[in-house]
Amino acid sequence: MLNVPPQAFPAPSSQQRAAAGGRAKVPLKPGRSLMDWIRLTKSGKDMTGLKGRLIEVTEDELAKHNKKEDCWICIRGFVYNVTPYMEYHPGGEDELMKAAGTDGTDLFDQVHRWVNYESMLKECLVGRMAVKPITAPKEITSVSEEKKQLNGMLPKKKVLCTSSKDLTPSYDWFQTDSLITIAVYTKQKGMNADLVILDCEDKRLRGEIIVDDYSYLLEVDLSHAVQEDVAVNIAEKVGKVEIILKKKDNVHWKILGQPLENHNTFMKRTDRGLFYRKCKLVSKTEVTHDTKLFCLLLPESTHLRVPTGQHVYLKQIIAGTEVVKPYTPVLPFLPLDFQEPSCHDSAHIYLMIKIYPRGLFTQALDHLQIGDYISVSSPEGSFKKSQVQTSEELFLLAAGTGFTPMVKLLNFALTEVNCLRTVKLIFFNRTEDDILWRNQLEQLALKDERFEVQFILSQPVRDWVGKQGMISSSLLSEFVKRSRKDSKVLICICGPTPFTEQGVQYLKDLGYSQEEVHPFTA
Ligand code: FAD
Ligand code: NAP
Repeated sequence: MLNVPPQAFPAPSSQQRAAAGGRAKVPLKPGRSLMDWIRLTKSGKDMTGLKGRLIEVTEDELAKHNKKEDCWICIRGFVYNVTPYMEYHPGGEDELMKAAGTDGTDLFDQVHRWVNYESMLKECLVGRMAVKPITAPKEITSVSEEKKQLNGMLPKKKVLCTSSKDLTPSYDWFQTDSLITIAVYTKQKGMNADLVILDCEDKRLRGEIIVDDYSYLLEVDLSHAVQEDVAVNIAEKVGKVEIILKKKDNVHWKILGQPLENHNTFMKRTDRGLFYRKCKLVSKTEVTHDTKLFCLLLPESTHLRVPTGQHVYLKQIIAGTEVVKPYTPVLPFLPLDFQEPSCHDSAHIYLMIKIYPRGLFTQALDHLQIGDYISVSSPEGSFKKSQVQTSEELFLLAAGTGFTPMVKLLNFALTEVNCLRTVKLIFFNRTEDDILWRNQLEQLALKDERFEVQFILSQPVRDWVGKQGMISSSLLSEFVKRSRKDSKVLICICGPTPFTEQGVQYLKDLGYSQEEVHPFTA
C-alpha cells in the first residue's frame, strides 16, 4: 500500500550515494557520477516527459510505469520518474527496479533513509499520489490538540503502537528564579548521557531522548529567552532526565512555551527525520598523505555525544544540491592509559576523513576553512555496547578508513570491559603510508598486553616484512582464532562494502555465528 506523508516533503535527510560509502555497490559507467547527475538535472532537460506539469497519479497509473525504460517510483506520497536516474544509481539499476511502479518508501527507508531524494530527484517529480492510503501513515499527528499552550504535564499522545504505549515517556517542568528544569520520565532504567540529544537555538528547544529503538521528542518554542549553556542531569536508577536551562531574565514563566509540530511524540527512531545543527570547523590536521582529522565544535547550546560504534551525517550544499555523507567520529588520539574510563570531551566531534582526489564530498570538505560551519546530524547506528560487554575476545577487522569505528570501540573495550582477555586489530591497507595512527597502535600494543595489532598490506612497496594479502578465508583462519573452544568472541568488521561482505561470508564459513559478527554499514 502507498504511504502518503502527513506533511509535504518532510525533509528527513539527504544524500545520494548508496550505503556503500566510498565505493558504489556496482561500478558506474564513466560519466555517471553524482556530479554528472547534478549537471544533468541542471541542464534544463525535461526529466519527467511531462514538460514541467505536475500530475496526480493513481495507483493504477503508477503500476504501469514498471520498466527500466519507463520507471516511476513513489516515495512518501510523491511520484518520481527515475528512468533518467537509472544509470546514476550507485546501488545499481536492479536495486532501483525493485520499487518500479510501486511505493518504494519502506524499501528506501531500509536502505538509505538519509538520502536526500527531494533534492536529488526534484527534476524527476511527476506529482503526488491521488489516492488516500489504506495503511495509516507511520507518524500519527494531531496538531490541533497540541496547539494549546503548554503548562506542565501534557497527555500522552502520538504513540505508534500499543506495545510501545506503556513505555511512552512523559514530562513536567518547574522553575526557580534563575532556572527552568524540564524533567522527562523515561520509565527506563540505565539512561545515560549518550541517550539525550539537546539543541536550543533562538528559544527553540529540541530535546530527543532515545529509549531502545524509540525516540521521545520535546520540541517547544520557549516563552522566554534562555542562556546558551544547557545542562543535562540523569537519575539513572529512576530513568529521569532533567534538562536544565538558565533564564536570560529573572522573570516568572507562566508557561513553558508553544509546542512545535513533533512535540511530545514517541516513535521509532528510524521514522524520525535526521536533525542537523551547524558546527564550526576548529582544526584540520594531517593523519596520512590523504587522510585528515577534522575537529568540529558543537554549539554551546547543544548536548550531543556520539555513542561508540555510531556515525553521524555531514551535509553540504554542493553545486546547489544538498549532499550528505556518513562519517564515524573518533577520539582526538588513541589514549594509551586505559586505567580510567576516559573523560568525554563533549564539546567537540573528531572525524578522520580520507580525501579522495575525485571525491565529491571530501573535496568540498577539504576546501572548508577553519571557522567555517558544516551541518552535523544526530548519531545513528545499530551497534550496541552490550555486544562487547559479554565478550572475552574481541577481533577488529578494518580496511582503510574502516578503522574509524574501531577507535572508540578499542577505547571502550580496553577501559570498561573487564571480561575481555584479548583485543586484536587486523588492519588492511594498501601501503605502509596508508596506515592510520600506526605509531599510536604500536605503542598501545606495547603498553597493553591484552592488545595486539596486525597490519596486512595489499600493495606493499619497499621492503615490507609484514603480512601481505587481501581478506581471505585462509588469512582469517590464521588471525581470528578462539583461544579456548568455548570462549565468547565478538568480531567487528568495517571497510569498503565488498571487503565487509566478503569478510562476513568467510567468517560464517569458518563457523562463527551471526551474533558473533558485527559488520559496520550505513
Ligand atoms: P565519492 O564522490 O563518493 O567517491 C569516492 C571515491 O570512490 C572516489 O575516488 C571515486 O572516484 C571513487 N568511486 C566513486 N564511485 C565509484 C564506483 N562506482 N566504483 C569505484 N570507485 C568509485 N569515510 C571516512 O573517510 N571516514 C569515516 O569516518 C567514514 N565513516 C563512514 C561511515 C559509514 C557508516 C559509511 C557508510 C561510510 C563512511 N565513510 C567514511 C565513507 C564516506 O561516507 C564517503 O563515502 C567518503 O568520504 C567518500 O565520499 P566522496 O563524496 O568524497 O567520494
Ligand atoms: P582502501 O584504501 O581503498 O582499501 C583499504 C584496504 O582494503 C586495501 O588493502 C584494499 O586493497 C582493501 N580492499 C579494498 N576493496 C576491497 C575489496 N573489494 N575486497 C577486499 N579488499 C578490499 O580503503 P578506503 O578508501 O580507506 O575506504 C574505506 C571504506 O570503508 C570506504 O568504502 C568507506 O565507506 C568505508 N567505511 C565504512 C564505515 C561504516 O560503514 N561504518 C566507516 C568508515 C569507513 P586494494 O585496494 O589493494 O584492493
